[in-house]
This record gives sequence, structure tokens and C-alpha cells, in this order.
Amino acid sequence: MNESSAKSNVGILGGTFDPIHYGHLAIADAARDALGLERIILIPAGRPWLKAAQSVTDAAHRLAMARLAVDGRRGFEVSSIEIDRPGPTYTVDTLAELRRELGEDATLHLILGMDSVRELGRWRQPGRLFDLCSIAAVSRPGSEDVAPDDFAREFPASVGRLSVVRGPMLDISATDIRRHAAAGVSIAEFVPPAVERYTVENGLYLG
Ligand code: ATP
Repeated sequence: MNESSAKSNVGILGGTFDPIHYGHLAIADAARDALGLERIILIPAGRPWLKAAQSVTDAAHRLAMARLAVDGRRGFEVSSIEIDRPGPTYTVDTLAELRRELGEDATLHLILGMDSVRELGRWRQPGRLFDLCSIAAVSRPGSEDVAPDDFAREFPASVGRLSVVRGPMLDISATDIRRHAAAGVSIAEFVPPAVERYTVENGLYLG
């Protein structure tokens, strides 16, 4: 990351991305439009500890698919920061690392789907997240939008640091995509064409 990026307005979208899909790209677009983000960094999780009980596709495949998904999308980039770090993935560690890299002048917005926002209480050091970044909470089908006032009662540090962003409400999940692929149903309507090709060429999600 270079000097000129140090003052930017940055969106950070972490996820298992197993696989990355149009729902992810759509919430990044919605947050960018709402908050005037100049860069969006997608960060595939290394070992997502909240999903420790389920098997997750190799990080190298998830990283490759994320790179294919952003190819040609201006302002988007992919970081392997979590995959390169050994041990379980904690977002607070990632934010601290990015804050060090990007400097105090950068404005960091962590982009989360509403289901993730509602799980925040289970995360490691959730209150500390608000010292490191603001949160852009994007609506998701099946999860009611949080009310910032209610949220502030649980997380006092979130006052002025939480934006609720209305997204396009795409009813897409990676779980459904994996199920479709395992049943031999095309996933082309849910993921960019290059990602779909990659899953086929690498025999992913065949069940
Ligand atoms: P899975 O079904 O495997 O749990 P997922 O589709 O929820 O996966 P993740 O990689 O776990 O995808 O999600 C990364 C982030 O993107 C999370 O903050 C999640 O809330 C958000 N997200 C994923 N899909 C959507 C969607 N369709 N609408 C809004 N937010 C989404």
C-alpha cells in the first residue's frame, strides 16, 4: 500500500467467500455509493473461527475466486492478509493491521451484511472494532435492520460509527450456491462468469 492511499476512504469486506457471489459485490457497491468509498478491499478469511465446525474450501481457491470476481472492477482489490496470518481469523486483528498499514488519516469502514452485524456480540473484542473503524451495516434478506439506538445500548462505542445502508436485498448465500452446485444445478446466475468457470474447472462444490 503506498503513500497516496494513506488518506483514502476505504471499505473493507471480509468473508469466507466460499464462493464469492453477487450478494457480496452488491453490498460493496451499496456501501461505496452511500459512503463515497474510494477503495474496497475484499479479504477472504483464513480460518473463520465462527465456522470452525464446518469444512471450508481451501483458502487458495477462495482467494483465486475473489481475484477473478474483482478483475476489471475499478476500485476493488483483494488482500490475502488473513490467509497469510497463521491461526484463527479475528477481524479485530485484521483491522488493527490495516490501520497500521494505512495510517491514522485513512477512514476505514467495515462492510457487514445485517446477519453479521447481529452476530457482532460473539466476535472477539467487538467494542474495540469501533476504535479502529466505522461499520457499514448493509441490509440482507432474512435479517431485520438493526436500529442504531438499540445497537448503541449494547455497544456504546458505536455511536456515530454505525451506518445502516439499504442494499439491493439480493437473496443469495454461499450455502445455497454450494447446495445448487452439489445438486448439479448451474450457479451462473449467482456468481460472475469467471468464478463459475473456476468452480467447474477445479471441481469445486460437487458434493
Ligand atoms: P455462507 O452461506 O457460507 O454462510 P455467505 O453467503 O453468508 O456465506 P460470507 O462469505 O459468510 O457469505 O459473507 C461475507 C459477508 O457478506 C458477511 O458480512 C455477510 O453478512 C455478507 N453477505 C453475504 N451475502 C449477502 C447478501 N446476499 N446480502 C447482504 N449481505 C451479504
